[in-house]
Amino acid sequence: MTPPTVLILLGPPGAGKGTQARILEEDFGLVQLSTGDLLRSAVASGSAAGQQARAVMEAGGLVGDEIVLAILKDRMQQPDVARGIILDGFPRTDRQAADLDALLAASGQRVDAAISLEVDDEAMVGRVAGRYTCGSCGEGYHDTFKQPAAAGVCDKCGGTGFKRRADDTAETVRERLKAYHAQTAPLISYYEGKGVLQRIDAMGDIAAIRQTLGGIVAGVSAQ
Ligand code: ADP
Ligand code: ADP
Ligand code: ZN
Repeated sequence: MTPPTVLILLGPPGAGKGTQARILEEDFGLVQLSTGDLLRSAVASGSAAGQQARAVMEAGGLVGDEIVLAILKDRMQQPDVARGIILDGFPRTDRQAADLDALLAASGQRVDAAISLEVDDEAMVGRVAGRYTCGSCGEGYHDTFKQPAAAGVCDKCGGTGFKRRADDTAETVRERLKAYHAQTAPLISYYEGKGVLQRIDAMGDIAAIRQTLGGIVAGVSAQ
């Protein structure tokens, strides 16, 4: 049996990682693993890890590697990941990348592709500040770039309750962009060195990026 596909989406806040990961779930039957979503659930549950993560997330910094790795390992034990995964927002530090390699190697797996969504930082402030999601199914929307077909009604599930993240303010995005450049952008060369890096222009519209990404993922899963 071929090992399940492991994809990484790299890119600053607002690059479109979550949007495209959900599309890849539908198009390829892969499972999105978002450490941001896992951490937000931990915060909401009031667990010890969540309590430690909360203030760091609100300030736009990176949560400690130990906490993030524990949460991710836990999620990777669940049976649905056998369909193949899209890591969204992980790894974000050298240590996370090294631990991921070790974790995958232990079950005979490896990173098949790390796809860097290349964007202009300035545009990310507007993308993040205008972001909101469906409170029922989590579908992502944008005040300007991706509105539901019927105002106030989720295209996917018909839900009418929407929410915005506390950290999606222009000020916090600037902190998050700094953290991205200082700690996460260096991973682009790490994956380049391993021969699995793909760079795509992610300033186009959502449908165009879906096409490009789909081509890459089809190539990787056929190997
Ligand atoms: P990330 O997960 O990388 O932080 P998201 O996928 O949540 O980014 O996208 C951020 C916001 O920008 C969302 O409101 C989303 O609807 C919107 N968006 C995503 N991709 C694009 C795009 N290519 N062009 C314009 N807006 C986009
Ligand atoms: P975005 O996709 O907009 O960049 P995420 O949902 O991925 O946002 O992350 C939100 C916040 O959660 C980050 O600003 C950070 O505080 C924390 N976080 C998420 N993933 C990680 C990670 N792999 N390592 C450290 N902190 C993380
Ligand atoms: Zn919905």
